[in-house]
Amino acid sequence: MWIGIDDTDSPTGMCTTYIGAVLVRRLDERGMRVRDARLIRLNPNVIHKTRGNAAIAIEAEGDPETAFALTCACVEALAEFDDPRTNPGVVVARVRPPPDFYYAALREFCTVEEAVGVLESVGALYRGYKNRRGLIGATAAVASELPDLTYELLAYRRREVWGRPREVDRESLFYAEETTGPHTWDTVDQENAVVVGVPHTPDPVLFGIRGESPAWVREARSFVRSEEQACEQVYATNQGTDAHLVAGVIGALREGRSYLVRGTVASEPATGVGGHVSLLLADEGGEVRCMAYEPTKGFRDVVRALVPGDVVVAAGSYKGGSLNLEKLGIACLADAVRVRPPVCPACERRMTSAGTGKGYKCRVCGERSREPEVEHLERPLRPGWYEVPSTARRHLARPLVRGVPAWEDELLSSGQGCDRVNKTNFTKEDL
Ligand code: ATP
Repeated sequence: MWIGIDDTDSPTGMCTTYIGAVLVRRLDERGMRVRDARLIRLNPNVIHKTRGNAAIAIEAEGDPETAFALTCACVEALAEFDDPRTNPGVVVARVRPPPDFYYAALREFCTVEEAVGVLESVGALYRGYKNRRGLIGATAAVASELPDLTYELLAYRRREVWGRPREVDRESLFYAEETTGPHTWDTVDQENAVVVGVPHTPDPVLFGIRGESPAWVREARSFVRSEEQACEQVYATNQGTDAHLVAGVIGALREGRSYLVRGTVASEPATGVGGHVSLLLADEGGEVRCMAYEPTKGFRDVVRALVPGDVVVAAGSYKGGSLNLEKLGIACLADAVRVRPPVCPACERRMTSAGTGKGYKCRVCGERSREPEVEHLERPLRPGWYEVPSTARRHLARPLVRGVPAWEDELLSSGQGCDRVNKTNFTKEDL
């Protein structure tokens, strides 16, 4: 049977993954063997999410009625019912729903009625509390399929210390990642020297370690020194897989969906208030603004180094009319040249235009030239993939240490190359 849980926490406490970990132990105590425990991330753009839009699915052997009673008891004992935005959902399905609903909840927006329709169609046991919204995530988790997957080990705190500052040794986290990377990632952000895997929210999570197998996350965990923990759980997960991305065409992007889009840079990148960097990307369908927000730190330098004419593939969520960048593939760099009047060979002063179509003239000695000076600008970028740092990575985004899925690489290498671009915005000092 498959057990699904969602929407149990609030900004002031609890975490659905913790209830999942407790339930795994309760099932085990009752002799129901747990085969699989999944942490499923859904559409990161849903407005109702508390933090990372996570839901839990557990595959277990045993009597569904007993498991349903046990799961409801766990949720009723632990969920943050007082928060108006907490609307738990519990599902137990003997027959697993087809994955369509999972993909819809991952990439689109769903309703409670749609979730109930799926549950009824497979004869599942289910209970939605309050406005029952949690049934969406619980159903999607149960219906999830993981053609690509990673693992996360979550260590939980003892109840007495919930809400107090966490004691996790910083150096040990860096050491854990140095020793087990690239098989684990995002425990720390080496580039920005910050810890990523220890939350600051008042929930029961002590730290999380992400990696390619249960063995690697456990290995990394063995290096971490911390306060005494209550328990830990290794989840299989769609985190770090890019499962939220679909191929998009600029004119047809829809609000709240996440895309991989190929296009040509159509404006100089601009740094706005707060350090956010934006540029326009164009394809035959039109133009879209791409944003690299301040928290993406050094990634913004990649975006700033682009010039009109560069052909790129941009990954991110389309929100409020902008594509919020998670990753960028550079297909082809434009041949950026700076065209200026030539320097006079006699007096070594830069000539000026002699009028439209009349070439250039030295204002000092009267020397003339027909040809401008063409300077090929050194580009600080190379074709290939660039990503936001660990500290700014979304749960579903696939880190480059895991490689790039074939369809993403195909999109990068498909289509037309770059146009030649003249960078003519030289300054007065250049003259
Ligand atoms: P938690 O740890 O409790 O799961 P969270 O950050 O994951 O916290 P939730 O509290 O679960 O967020 O809130 C997300 C809500 O949005 C849930 O009720 C879930 O059922 C619902 N939901 C998830 N995906 C979609 C979707 N694609 N369309 C509509 N609702 C969704």
